Amino acid sequence: MRPLAEQDFLPGIEPPAEPAPGARWYVFQEARLLVSADQGPARVPGRPPQDLALRPLREGFLGTFRGAPCYVAEVGKEEVAPAGWAFEGLRRLFARVDDDFFRLAARAFQIKEWDRCHRYCGACSSETVRKPGERARECPACGELFYPRLSPVVMILIRRGRELLLARSPRFPKGMYSALAGFVEPGETLEETAAREVREEVGLEIAGLRYFGSQSWPFPHSLMIAFVAEYAGGEIRLQDPEIEDAGWYSPDRLPELPHPLSIARRLIDGVIGQTQRKPGRADSSHGIVRRE
Ligand SMILES: [Zn+2]
Repeated sequence: MRPLAEQDFLPGIEPPAEPAPGARWYVFQEARLLVSADQGPARVPGRPPQDLALRPLREGFLGTFRGAPCYVAEVGKEEVAPAGWAFEGLRRLFARVDDDFFRLAARAFQIKEWDRCHRYCGACSSETVRKPGERARECPACGELFYPRLSPVVMILIRRGRELLLARSPRFPKGMYSALAGFVEPGETLEETAAREVREEVGLEIAGLRYFGSQSWPFPHSLMIAFVAEYAGGEIRLQDPEIEDAGWYSPDRLPELPHPLSIARRLIDGVIGQTQRKPGRADSSHGIVRRE
């Protein structure tokens, strides 16, 4: 996955004093984003919602993408998309966006959600205010600070020779399988989360955990941290209601996989690519008896 280089996006708190060309406005209605209504690549408006006869509940500055200022706003449920525009869920937009678009929209959504969900102090119920110069809301009464929320999720793709362990949650689209994943608990290292999740979800042991990559996943505020691991023992046992089926799959007999925009798919494709480039090495690296 191409890392978002520093020059691509520069986070910012204070908007530019003068309107700059090429602005992007990420206007949400709940979790849906205002985009061009045609079926081509999705675009966001270059003008604030007021210019499109929409009344914002909140708005804010995100930073600049390749020099262009990016803003986020939220409008109420009763607002109607202007002609030529439509409010669409981010998942429904996968087919019409590239990685840069998705990452900016994901960032905008999470900052909007943080602003929406921290209007009042969780400690003393007073109304919070934005803290100048920082991406934080502050309680003027008790001083409590509220930063955007991130929930780290460890994703683990287990290899056994050429085979991969893929599983499905009852929440997945019909027929789709993916790598295992679970939230990091307070006090855990990522390595501990990986071992615990694998044990809890499929009853297996793993070894040789290797970092693959990460992705911000705005459903609603996850940070996916993906690893590859080697099978180290055990038989598949399903005991977690989060997993309804799991099995070993060879690269030539794969079930339906997650969308290519997701790190889950990049992880699976990446590992299959490695396996196919170095079949001898991948096949001979474990003294594990296949279970067919
Ligand atoms: Zn307070």
